[in-house]
Amino acid sequence: MIPFNQPIKNENIFRYIKTGFGGKFLRGEGTYCNECSVWMEKHFHAKKVLLTSSCSHSLEMAALLLDVQPGDEIIMPSFTFCSTANAFVLRGGVPVFVDIRPDTMNIDETLIESAITNRTKGIAVVHYGGVACEMDTIMEIARRHNLFVVEDAAQGVMSEYRGKALGTIGDIGCYSFHETKNYSMGEGGATLVNRSELVERAEIIREKGTNRSQFLRGQVDKYSWVDIGSSYLPSDLAAAYLYAQLEIADEINDDRLRSWNLYYELLRPLAETGRIEMPSVPEGCKHNAHLFYIKAKDIEERTALIAYLKEQGVIALFHYVPLHSSIAGRKYGRFHGEDGFTTRESERLIRLPMFYGLTEEQVRFITECVFAFYQNN
Ligand SMILES: *Cc1c(COP(=O)(O)O)cnc(C)c1O
Repeated sequence: MIPFNQPIKNENIFRYIKTGFGGKFLRGEGTYCNECSVWMEKHFHAKKVLLTSSCSHSLEMAALLLDVQPGDEIIMPSFTFCSTANAFVLRGGVPVFVDIRPDTMNIDETLIESAITNRTKGIAVVHYGGVACEMDTIMEIARRHNLFVVEDAAQGVMSEYRGKALGTIGDIGCYSFHETKNYSMGEGGATLVNRSELVERAEIIREKGTNRSQFLRGQVDKYSWVDIGSSYLPSDLAAAYLYAQLEIADEINDDRLRSWNLYYELLRPLAETGRIEMPSVPEGCKHNAHLFYIKAKDIEERTALIAYLKEQGVIALFHYVPLHSSIAGRKYGRFHGEDGFTTRESERLIRLPMFYGLTEEQVRFITECVFAFYQNN
């Protein structure tokens, strides 16, 4: 059986968790939380990185920090995980979904401007599969209309757009360290605060609306409730688990890219004969092999392929059911313009197994299964 995803284990993980137990805190803002933040700030040239309990929470922090008010409209793709929308809906915001580009499955930057109204407050982009959205165009539109940009870079840790780390380009970036992502805390995330004037308040929001972070640094002599906020801090044990992976981040990234490139090379003949479509990575984008997907002809063929792979012991998955067709999406958001690609392309997409440690033999076996399916169909 080849699973879709497999959690990362390495020796240092267990050593660091033990050290954590011997350390000063297990709660948030301990040694490993700090080590992880500093590592990311250095490695990604990020102004401020705050480790959190999930990317969903990082997105909620972004909505609080950017003062989203009831009725504010946030432009985003419908092809994403519900957390992208939830964060703003929780503040009374209205997701305005626009169509995606079929080549990257990212928001179509050329459709954003026509979705702007006098209620539009910001744009939430999603870097699908760790492949960047067209950020130059998006940032230029945002600047011209005075809108904020939040990057849902849940899948984009270690990816770049024109030399910049994903998550560091918009006003706020959000990473996920959920078990299914490239680097994991089990459950966890990070908020990247890219504007200096937002940093202090971001710390307060993460600390239940208190200035405890300043207190811990000795900047105030007692701490108190100063703003709204919640508990978005992760445990230091989870951070210890993450830190051991950040130390070998390049090795993990290279390993995933090797699998991604091998899938691409082996499946190319099927793409060339038009049986399947493969992902494309635009110029200027350095991706992190978060996932490898192919597109079948339609939903029927996809369902049959997933079932066939399962019979061969290979777990392949689809996603997403577009938000605008979900129960909550219909209730809280609206689709602007035409759904040319969101539904159609999402129904064709299949993600193949992808994890650190996936072997060459496994990738070869999986692609042979895909070939066998198309030979018989
Ligand atoms: C995984 C994911 C999230 C949610 O991340 P959590 O850390 O599980 O909260 C949000 N957005 C996207 C695009 C994701 O892939």
